[in-house]
Amino acid sequence: MKIYKDFNFYKKNFIFQIVNSDIKNKKYTLICTRFPPEPNGYLHLGHIKAICLNFTIAKYYNGKCYLRIDDTNPSTENIKYIEAIKKDLLWLGFKWDGKIKYSSDYFNILYKYAIELINKDLAYVDELNIQDIRKYRGTLLQPGKNSPYRNRPKKENLELFQKMRLGYFQEGSMSLRAKIDMKSNIIIMRDPVLYRIKYRKHHQTGKKWCIYPTYDFSHCIADALEGITHSLCTLEFQDNRILYNWILNNININVKYYPKQYEFSRLNIENGITSKRKINFLLQNGIIKGWDDPRLFTISGLRKRGYTPSSLKNFCYKIGITKKNNIIEISSLESSLREELNKTAYRTMAVLKPLKIIIKNFPKKKKIKLIAPNHPHNPKMGSKIIYFTKEIYINLLDFMEKDTKNYKRLVLGKEVRLRHAFVIRAEKIIKDSFGKIKYIYCSYDPNTLGKKIEKNRNVKGVIHWVSCLYSIPATFYLYKNLLLKNNTENINDITSMINTKSLSIYNGFVESNLLKTNNSHFQFEREGYFYLIYNNQKEKTMFFNRIVSLKENYN
Ligand code: ATP
Ligand code: MG
Repeated sequence: MKIYKDFNFYKKNFIFQIVNSDIKNKKYTLICTRFPPEPNGYLHLGHIKAICLNFTIAKYYNGKCYLRIDDTNPSTENIKYIEAIKKDLLWLGFKWDGKIKYSSDYFNILYKYAIELINKDLAYVDELNIQDIRKYRGTLLQPGKNSPYRNRPKKENLELFQKMRLGYFQEGSMSLRAKIDMKSNIIIMRDPVLYRIKYRKHHQTGKKWCIYPTYDFSHCIADALEGITHSLCTLEFQDNRILYNWILNNININVKYYPKQYEFSRLNIENGITSKRKINFLLQNGIIKGWDDPRLFTISGLRKRGYTPSSLKNFCYKIGITKKNNIIEISSLESSLREELNKTAYRTMAVLKPLKIIIKNFPKKKKIKLIAPNHPHNPKMGSKIIYFTKEIYINLLDFMEKDTKNYKRLVLGKEVRLRHAFVIRAEKIIKDSFGKIKYIYCSYDPNTLGKKIEKNRNVKGVIHWVSCLYSIPATFYLYKNLLLKNNTENINDITSMINTKSLSIYNGFVESNLLKTNNSHFQFEREGYFYLIYNNQKEKTMFFNRIVSLKENYN
């Protein structure tokens, strides 16, 4: 397995420690984990945290990690999400062991276990509707009340449950509930629902079933049947663990060992959404067009934006696994990418907001061939050719008519160095009738190429540029956070938090040598790290996403 920089830190986390001591104590012969997404949306950054944990534990201890599609609710699920889940996992570089597993693989056996519970008088068919079930359940301060249907004879329960399966009853009119304790301190133990009626076609089982098991009933049994040793999930399932164990302890399941559930904290990202339900809300309200919007923290959005699998994994290793809920700053995710691309991205020049410069003392037809390294510290990455010509573009923001104290760019009457090229001086501004700058006349100093500047010469700084003749038109997509604040629990608040300026599009130019590039990631000097989305060789235009700026809080 490829060892990531922060993996040594990561493998000290409390779950690795538990597995480690289980191995020392010879508790298991084979470590087995699973990643169990519900196919009701695309995977997001939060899932990467769970994926990294489950897959690295299995890999590190020579065990197995399964992909289990947790498909017990056909009303919200769709086969297209399964395809997306597979694609995202493989892109991250994680391959599940064996065939993909589905919770629906166990529908027959789950049904049998439900009958077993009824026979043991540990489950009953309830005719309360959902609202009443909720009402009877009570609260943290108030104990629940028994349903009037709780004490039906076993025989009646069996008959009704079979009829539920055969489609005798309407959706919502009945459910199968475990008979545990309506006065339990743990609300989840107050007769949890095990089966509900749903007249939906299922993407795996078709119309075979009209009753579907709940997450709580199916998850523990699927874990046990698959031989999962460590069933890892997020903290909100802490109370469900008691039910998880209750179910396994009350059915006759013939497995070598029972799986054990362990919880860790969810990943929350500052001003970001890591909830399929909330992303779906944005989609349904037309705020975004797809699950792969580059401003989202979905895996497909991060991929489209230009994040690399290794930077995402290293980010997860860096933040580690704990039981403490917190919100991770976006800068932490961005710095993982910067750290990587700083080493691997080709340096090149792009002008996002072009301003034309005409070099007065440079002949019209002449070009000077310049050679620039692809990386300042890695000669192995080679070099490239750029041309200096009479007309060039610089960034509009790199010029000012009047000087200010800390301004390190081109100013009228002053000098600046062009990266990899000459020192130029701004001589004259040409404006249109609206007073907008059309172009600037400059002069260049032919004796400054590759030379150190004399100490007393006031050259203000180094700016990037491209030749007008030897550049390619390019479109640049720059992103800011989609949300202005952290989202609270209330989903309807999201609309008021949307940053309407989260996407800016610029039309500019890149060095012409890029048209033939085989690379996808670039550092455009002083502009940020960019990802090549589309290279239109025919029309000679290119399209780039800015993944991140070069520095934090820099736009
Ligand atoms: P969502 O709230 O986005 O629907 P979920 O928990 O319902 O998320 P599942 O598809 O059921 O999504 O999750 C699959 C696995 O990924 C579960 O084990 C879950 O605990 C884990 N997971 C989901 N979201 C996060 C997160 N934000 N941080 C860490 N793990 C997560
Ligand atoms: Mg869910």
